[in-house]
Amino acid sequence: MTRTALVTGGTRGIGRAISIALKEAGYRVAANYHGNEEAARRLKEEAGIAVFRFDVADFAACREAIARIEEELGPIDILVNNAGITRDATFHRMSPEQWQAVIRTNLDSLFNVTRQVIEGMRARGFGRIVNISSINGQKGQRGQTNYAAAKAGVLGFTKALALENANKGITVNAVAPGYIATDMVMAVPEPIRQKIVAEIPVGRLGEAEEVARCVLFLVADEAGWITGSTLTVNGGHYLA
Ligand code: NDP
Repeated sequence: MTRTALVTGGTRGIGRAISIALKEAGYRVAANYHGNEEAARRLKEEAGIAVFRFDVADFAACREAIARIEEELGPIDILVNNAGITRDATFHRMSPEQWQAVIRTNLDSLFNVTRQVIEGMRARGFGRIVNISSINGQKGQRGQTNYAAAKAGVLGFTKALALENANKGITVNAVAPGYIATDMVMAVPEPIRQKIVAEIPVGRLGEAEEVARCVLFLVADEAGWITGSTLTVNGGHYLA
């Protein structure tokens, strides 16, 4: 039986690696994106993965798009809530727009997207939900009160939803990556990046594929005993 997976923000960075890993493992994959048509086109051409443009911060847009995805690809059994952004600023300088953009995209999105698929998963008695949090939601980071609040919220959401659905064949877990060499991290100024790498015990940034491996592990049919957990993948950074 071929299961269908939806990966939000699935066309670039970590999400792209997750989409490709799922496709290669035999799943049917829908990759969502927001505005970067070029990256979406490339994924579609190179990996043969269906791409769907909608804003995860918009509930109505999610409802409409996910109904279309399920019509085209079948019921979504696997959801990876990966889409995320940063709008860094120290809190005393942060604008309401910076705060709201991050909370809406990184946290409200979990409601907007998951709400569309949870009833179907419960009715079918199977579901795998993986939410991408962050090391900075676990331990905080200067300049990221908005991001850390959203990513810590992801962990609370994961545990509560796991409890509600544990007896319905649905697992809900979080993956909390450390610093991964994607556009998001490469946008951090070079001197700050060097300082970050110096703090990581493994001595390098992570690769998107190293996060994708964790997701693949958690979404397997055989992973039904793992729920409400957070898998940290950070080269030992949390301990340092
Ligand atoms: P990227 O910036 O490389 O990619 C982000 C992806 O999310 C893109 O596909 C983008 O679409 C999509 N996206 C952004 N906003 C929206 C939106 N409103 N609606 C739909 N899609 C959207 O990010 P990363 O791969 O680095 O990060 C992926 C996730 O991992 C994020 O949740 C991030 O917070 C988390 N994370 C990343 C870490 C890192 O070191 N990189 C560390 C820890 C966590 P488009 O291409 O159209 O813009």
